[in-house]
Amino acid sequence: MAQIAVIGGGPAGLMAAEVLSDAGHAVSVFEAMPTVARKFLMAGKSGLNITHADDHAAFISRFGAAADRMRPMLDAFTGADVRAWTERLGIETFVGSSGRVFPKAMKASPLLRAWLGRLDRQGVRVFVRHGWEGFDKTSLIFASPDGRQALSFDAVILALGGASWPRLGSDAAWVPWLTGRGVAVTPFRPANCGFETGWSTLFKEKFAGAPVKSVVATSDAGAVPGEFVISRHGIEGALVYAHAAALRDALDVHGAAALTLDLVPGRSVDRLAVDLARQPRKASFSNRMRKGAGLDAVKTALVRELVPDAPALAPDVLAARIKALDLPVTAPRPIAEAISSAGGVSWESVDDRLMLTALPGVFVCGEMLDWEAPTGGYLISGCLATGRAAARGAIDWLAGFVPR
Ligand SMILES: Cc1cc2nc3c(=O)[nH]c(=O)nc-3n(C[C@H](O)[C@H](O)[C@H](O)COP(=O)(O)OP(=O)(O)OC[C@H]3O[C@@H](n4cnc5c(N)ncnc54)[C@H](O)[C@@H]3O)c2cc1C
Repeated sequence: MAQIAVIGGGPAGLMAAEVLSDAGHAVSVFEAMPTVARKFLMAGKSGLNITHADDHAAFISRFGAAADRMRPMLDAFTGADVRAWTERLGIETFVGSSGRVFPKAMKASPLLRAWLGRLDRQGVRVFVRHGWEGFDKTSLIFASPDGRQALSFDAVILALGGASWPRLGSDAAWVPWLTGRGVAVTPFRPANCGFETGWSTLFKEKFAGAPVKSVVATSDAGAVPGEFVISRHGIEGALVYAHAAALRDALDVHGAAALTLDLVPGRSVDRLAVDLARQPRKASFSNRMRKGAGLDAVKTALVRELVPDAPALAPDVLAARIKALDLPVTAPRPIAEAISSAGGVSWESVDDRLMLTALPGVFVCGEMLDWEAPTGGYLISGCLATGRAAARGAIDWLAGFVPR
């Protein structure tokens, strides 16, 4: 029986601990915070979208540039496996209308309780308030309530999370400890995040918090139907997150990016032009927008905000703008507010077992690896799949198995 440290008690680390203890190893989980899995519990506040019912090929494609490296791990633990695993913990799940999978209770805490119970029965020891602070020769250094401790293990799994919502524990403080040992880390960037826009004071004071419903938004990520929210800084919400990587990358490359909105997806531009032309010329702009295009107050204000001369435009020109309204964004919101992060330990730094080539016996998993995915349950699924893969990698490595 080997002594294995899992550092980080999020979904990736807990899954690694489960697989390692299943295989009969002695597992200690070290967590810096006073309790484990705070981000997982936070995800539960919006229902805990645990995975997605996409067909498997589509599911893998959500992992974008990292899909090829992630494929074997996602093949070994598919979305259907995530669901079956959740149900084996006694938590019933359902598939929502969008294909997203949730626990029926729409909460994370019963699942986490059942999971920690299983780990406890399998002999996993959890040490909270134990912050890893790097290496001292071959030992791991922890700051604990009993002071600084140097501990050694037969293998180590790092599951330290990404860089979003640092107050929940994943603060990326580990980056210099790994780069100092020759591990390449791609700088973290916000993913699934809101964006800043140049709203006028009048617009943001009146409409911050207002939802913009039933639109289709287009960027390099494609045309996606949904809704978003006006914020004081710009735009937020699921539809924006779906475009976040494309907008962020366009800002990086071109210094400019825009989301193109179709505010009336159910009508063709010609039909809309006819409907607008029917409105009395003397009617107010908001009445023409409401009666001719079915736009509510926030959509009408958005048109005026982005096309100041809209009231003076001919119906056909106005219709074209309403069907393809460019909403420029100036910057992503800070990473601390993002749902997840892109960047992390580079794929060149790990072998197919997720072992750091610069640090034999040290494996990495979860959001600290360089992959990103949209919201929709892909993030937790990716963390669980890589957590399993890192654990299996450690089991093989301890057994002296050399991959071809
Ligand atoms: C508001 C919100 C809602 C979300 N909703 C969803 C959702 O519905 N579906 C979905 O798929 N994803 C969702 N996510 C994303 C998902 O929660 C994360 O991708 C996932 O938790 C990452 O798992 P992880 O185990 O890699 O890292 P984390 O969950 O971040 O866990 C890492 C752990 O390591 C600990 N740690 C860090 N550094 C140290 C150290 N030096 N020493 C010891 N411990 C350390 C941290 O305290 C933390 O507990 C959401 C995220 C947020 C912020």
